[in-house]
Parts: sequence; C-alpha cells; structure tokens
Amino acid sequence: MCRSSREGNVTMGKSFRPSLLYRDGRFIAGERIFVDDVGRIAASQENVAQIDLSGKALLPGFVNAHSHSFQRLIRGRAESRAVSGRDFWSWRNTMYQAAARLSPGDLYDLARMCFLEMVRAGITTVGEFHYLHNAPDGTPYDDPNLLAHQVIAAAQSVGLRIVLLRSAYFRSGYQLAPDPGQQRFFEREDAFLANMTRLRSSYAADSVDVRFGVAPHSIRAVPLQQLREIASWARNNSLPLHMHIAEQIAENTACREEYGCTPVELLARENLLGEDFVAVHAIHLNTQEMAALADAGAFVCSCPTTERNLGDGMVPVDALMKLGVRHALGSDSQAQIDPLEDARELDYHLRLAQQVRAVLDQIDGRPIASRLFDCATIHGAQALGIDSGSLAPGEYGDMVTIDLADISVAGHDPETLLPLLVFGANRAAIRDVVVNGKLILRDGRHALEEEIVAKYQQLYRRVWGIDSVSGSAR
Ligand SMILES: [Zn+2]
Repeated sequence: MCRSSREGNVTMGKSFRPSLLYRDGRFIAGERIFVDDVGRIAASQENVAQIDLSGKALLPGFVNAHSHSFQRLIRGRAESRAVSGRDFWSWRNTMYQAAARLSPGDLYDLARMCFLEMVRAGITTVGEFHYLHNAPDGTPYDDPNLLAHQVIAAAQSVGLRIVLLRSAYFRSGYQLAPDPGQQRFFEREDAFLANMTRLRSSYAADSVDVRFGVAPHSIRAVPLQQLREIASWARNNSLPLHMHIAEQIAENTACREEYGCTPVELLARENLLGEDFVAVHAIHLNTQEMAALADAGAFVCSCPTTERNLGDGMVPVDALMKLGVRHALGSDSQAQIDPLEDARELDYHLRLAQQVRAVLDQIDGRPIASRLFDCATIHGAQALGIDSGSLAPGEYGDMVTIDLADISVAGHDPETLLPLLVFGANRAAIRDVVVNGKLILRDGRHALEEEIVAKYQQLYRRVWGIDSVSGSAR
C-alpha cells in the first residue's frame, strides 16, 4: 500500500521508505531514498512527504532503449506463415500494413497503449526509434514532425520519460527502387537535419521528460555521405546516435555489395563508432567487428524477445561482454514488453546454444543477476544519455517497486532476491512506478488505464476491420 501526504505535489521533496532498497547489486533493509523538489535523487532532505512502501522492494526503473511503439498493433496478428510468411522480410510487410493504416490521432492512442504497458512492466524511460514521418500516401504533413509530436504527447500523457530517437530513412536499399510500404518513412535527404532541429526546438532545452537522439535507420536506408553528415551533427549537438546493425545476414550481404565490407567495418573505417554509438541488434558479427565495437566504447542494444520472435538470430553477448561492450535492452517490435524477460533471455539463448548454465556469470567480474540487471537499467540509461539507472544522488528519481508478497517472489532473502527477480519474477509483481519523483503507477494501477485500453480496443477493431459484434474480420 502507498500512503503519503501531498504525494501528488511534485514540487515537494519526498522520502520513499521501502522494506528493502536495491543498491549496487544487493538489497538492504531500513534505508530510504530522497527525491528533491525537481525530481532528482538527493542524499538527504528535510520536511519531505513520506511515502510508505512497506512490504515492497525499491529498485531503479527499467530503461527501454529501443522501441517502435506503433508495432504494438500487430502483436498476435503476425504469428502465422499464411499472414506473415516465414522470415523477417515477410513479417516486415505485415508491419508496413499496420504503419499505413494509422492517422495521427490513431498513432497517439496506439502509443499511449504501448507506453502504458511499458509502465506496467516497470519501464521509466523509453527510447522511441521513430521513423513514421509522412501521411499514408507519402506526402509530408504541413508540420513534418506531426507524428513525432503525437508520440511524445502520448508518453507525456502516460507519464513516461521519452528519448525520441528521430530516424533518418532515405531509400529502400542499395540499388533498390523505393518500396511503397516505406513511403511514410522517407524524407528528403536535405530536410532531415532541419526537421530534427525544429523538433528539438519545440521542447525546452532543459526538459527532463522529453529528450532526443539521432537514428540513421540502417546502412541500407542511409547512404554513406548522409550518414557522415548526420553523425557529425549528432556529435556536435551531444546527442546519442542509434542505428539498426546486422539484424539480418542479408543486410551484411547488401553492405558488402555496396561498400565491400560489413556495416560495422564500414562504421569503424569511417570513424563513426564511439561511446555515443548504439548498435541495435548487432547479431551477425565477426570477431573483428566485436573488437571494433569494444575499442570504440560503443553500446549494443539487444532486443531478445523480438529477436527470438522474428527468428533474427542470437546476439553473441558472451563474446561481446568479455570485450567489455555494454548492453542495453529494447522491446523493439513489442512482441512482449517485459524488461526482465529480455534480461534473462540474454543468457538463456546462450544456454540453449552451448548446453551449459549461467554463461554470463562473472564474465566481466560481476554476478550474472546484477550484470543482467545493469543491462535493463544503467546501461540503458547511458545508451540514451540520461541520468538514471542506479539510484545515485543527482540522478532522476526513476524507480519501481516489487511486491515482496507476490507469489512469484515467495521464498527470498536479501542475498537471493536479485537473481530471483531477474530469473523468476512475474510482471505482476511490479506495483509502483515513479518517474522524476512522481508516482505514475500506484499499487498496480495507472489513473488512465481504463480509458487508454478502451480507446485502443476501438482503434484495433477499426484499423483491422474487426466486427465489434461477431469479432471476425469484415
Ligand atoms: Zn528496431
């Protein structure tokens, strides 16, 4: 249960008092967390609102570093070969059908549904890799950032912090004619940076709930000269640079045809890798490419629940972590939204392939559970360039609670609670979510949940032509 005086007043400092507090890989009893009047974690505070979290454990909020919120619309609709074929490329056509059907208002309602589910899963920040820019017929809107504003407004409505990773998408691929399914994505090459600049200037430069990054979609979608310009601009503006890399072998093949090397080799050769670079997926890598990512201090963002859903392949996390590459996690296609499931899958995929247990344990000097938990928290925050993930003073007050009475965590002690959570907690155990010191989920309930879900259900039926009486397609 949550009790507080004037808790809803975000201008007042707060003291959160859980039964157990997570600090650097372990849980301790009898500690409090203070959040100051601007939502930052403080070492101590006087005259604060008291928030009682007894019976719960308090942990850093999860960071979802790679999301396409609109893809929530095809969950459950792309699981047969009759509809979506047998591989990533045919699945992509189903995804394009979804993208083509959405009005700006639909996108807002859909993103709210997706972000609500993220909050229920303990996510406090989403990195939204946003590449829907145009009207369904490919015409730019009067405001070329209309759809980005819709997605940002959806996050603000739900209370989730958003890092809008505005995507550059200029072509279908090397020597390929424009794909009609991608016409909502394309921008003129000379318009992208102007549109990006305009979008950023629409929000306060010091905004804590809306931040930005730059996302050249992939090597296939952005020619090298434009990639150089975008990366240079991102660095000059101190913004993170996210890019899909080596999700499919066919991407590597196409890159070899165009440039005579793989995507990571190209990025290394062009000096485009760095500590601000996030390689999303990074599945099909050779040892030299892994070393190049490590040498540059680049991140990998893994999306295991999507990657297994799409049959993409398995991230060589063990080899990458041995080299010191930091991993963030993303829900990507929204096949599932569960950061702890993504975290445990990093190791489970390796176990199945290698037929041994706990592959990542002590791989870089940390126990496996705290290493995987770092992927869902600290590394995600670093990959998005935000101060979050460890509950250290000065960070945003972004936190989640776990109900210690939840059936999935019964039988714990402070020493085993973290591995129990990482490998066994049910999403229902997440009870409260705090973003910037403000409780947006209380005892498992979000204030707007019924409205958001009802609107989404209507949207889903209308967009896919489902008869509301018979439940079948019209
Ligand atoms: Zn993606």
